[in-house]
Amino acid sequence: MNEQKVVIVTGASSGIGKAIALAFGKEGHKVIVNYLNNAEQAEEVVKEIVSKGGEAHAVQADVSSFEASKNLVDQALEIFGRIDVLVNNSGITKDQLMLRMKEEDFDNVIDVNLKGTWNMVKHVTRPMFKQKSGRIINISSVVGQIGNPGQANYVASKAGVIGLTKSIAKEFGKKNITANAIAPGFIKTAMTEKLDDAVKDAYLQQIPLGSFGEAEDVANTALFLASDSAKYISGQVLGVNGGMI
Ligand code: NAP
Repeated sequence: MNEQKVVIVTGASSGIGKAIALAFGKEGHKVIVNYLNNAEQAEEVVKEIVSKGGEAHAVQADVSSFEASKNLVDQALEIFGRIDVLVNNSGITKDQLMLRMKEEDFDNVIDVNLKGTWNMVKHVTRPMFKQKSGRIINISSVVGQIGNPGQANYVASKAGVIGLTKSIAKEFGKKNITANAIAPGFIKTAMTEKLDDAVKDAYLQQIPLGSFGEAEDVANTALFLASDSAKYISGQVLGVNGGMI
């Protein structure tokens, strides 16, 4: 097994973030399970990791807040003493066609998905620079690569995450820190559950592998990017999309 690492996973109370937290826990890594509203679900994730012999703590924080995300990083440092891997997974959608999209729908989605990612990167920069090591994994989306009607806010945020990732990969390389993005396609979670059947069918038509992805497909990719096997991979966008693009 790879060396035991300290991992922060944002938005780990459900869906992809939960699968990522469980996957790292199962591999023996120490996990900070961040959540926003669902404390009970986050505690369940912690329990599951601990029941299998791992170490984990749930920490509440709204990543869109600069102060709250600093507090999340500070708590992780207090609990585990270092941060080896940051997985920026928290994300929201507020889908609407441009004609109907409100300014607040744009601002909210950008604040959580893009600013939240930037906030967390900002706060781990100093500790990772001091350690001269680190892995940053940002969850983008296939639509951030190809665009999508009804998601101008979300797509802008996810394309922004790719630009942010590529820039920090160039800045942080000399400190032995890699930064990569994962761009999932359609993954079965609460986020996609709320779409209506016609939209789901239209997506399915675009997926060569003929099925939706599982949260674990993304989790396995995050584990790989954090592993020694990926030590020379930085500034990349890994698609987990069933062949969509
Ligand atoms: P999800 O099931 O809705 O989970 C979202 C998570 O984000 C929850 O844990 C939620 O916490 C947390 N969160 C929301 N706002 C937050 C904030 N301000 N601060 C901290 N945490 C916050 O969504 P998912 O489908 O697993 O998506 C996870 C990531 O993958 C997102 O970035 C999403 O854009 C991306 N993605 C998903 C798909 C897909 O098909 N599902 C495809 C491409 C990309 P609480 O529940 O505790 O409030």
